[in-house]
Amino acid sequence: MDHRLPGPNSNIAENIKQAKEKVIQVYDMLPNFCSNEEIPELLDDLRSVMKDYVLLDTKYKDLKTSKQKVIQLCTEKVKKDIAEGRESSITLDEINELLKNTLRNEMEKHHEGFLEKDPLYITMKNFGEDETNNAEDQAMNNEDDLAVTGETIQTIDPYSKKEFSDPVKNLNCKHTYEREIIMRLITTNSKTRCYWMGCNNRVAIRAEHLVSDDELKRYINRLKTRAAI
Ligand SMILES: [Zn+2]
Repeated sequence: MDHRLPGPNSNIAENIKQAKEKVIQVYDMLPNFCSNEEIPELLDDLRSVMKDYVLLDTKYKDLKTSKQKVIQLCTEKVKKDIAEGRESSITLDEINELLKNTLRNEMEKHHEGFLEKDPLYITMKNFGEDETNNAEDQAMNNEDDLAVTGETIQTIDPYSKKEFSDPVKNLNCKHTYEREIIMRLITTNSKTRCYWMGCNNRVAIRAEHLVSDDELKRYINRLKTRAAI
C-alpha cells in the first residue's frame, strides 16, 4: 500500500464529506425517479458506495492520526539522542516502518460493523418501511435508529423555542430547523449559518442543503400520540 501523506491544507476530508452528501441526495431522489421494482437494487448499490466512502474517510483519518504520532515519536527520539550526546539519525525506512505499524494499530481500533454505524449510512433506510402494519415495532425501531446517532432528540427549534412542526435537516451538519424560519433567514441573508449552539459547520445555508426531517416529524407525532393516551 502506498502511503501518500495528507498535507496540512488537504481538502481530502472535505471532498469525501461532499461525496457522502451527494450519495444522500441521490438516495432522497430515488422514490421520485425510480419504480418500486428498481429501488431495492439501486439502494444496495448506493449503500455500498456509501460504505466505500465511510471506509475512505476512516482510512484518511487514521493516516492523519498516524502521521502526527510518527512525527511525535521521531521528535522525541531526536531530542533523546541529542540530550544523551548521540548523533541522531532516523532513516526513511525506519519512518516508513513506524508509520506502517502505527497505521495498523489505528485501524485495529475500529469496532466491527463500524461502517454500518456511520450516521449518514444509518439514514439510508428502506423506503416505505413505515407503512408496515406492525406500527408499534416500527416505532421502536425508529427510536433506536435515532438513538444510534448518539444525540439527544431535540424537538424544540432553538431559534423560535417552539416545537418543530415542519422540520428540515441540514445535510451538512445534520442540525434541524423549522422550515419557515430557516427559509426566511436564508432569503433575507445569504450568509446565514447554522444557528445551533456549538455547531462548527461554517457553510452558509442554502435551500438545497435542506431536506425534510421526516424521521423527527414521525418521532414528534408519536410522542403526541402517546401523550394523548
Ligand atoms: Zn449545525
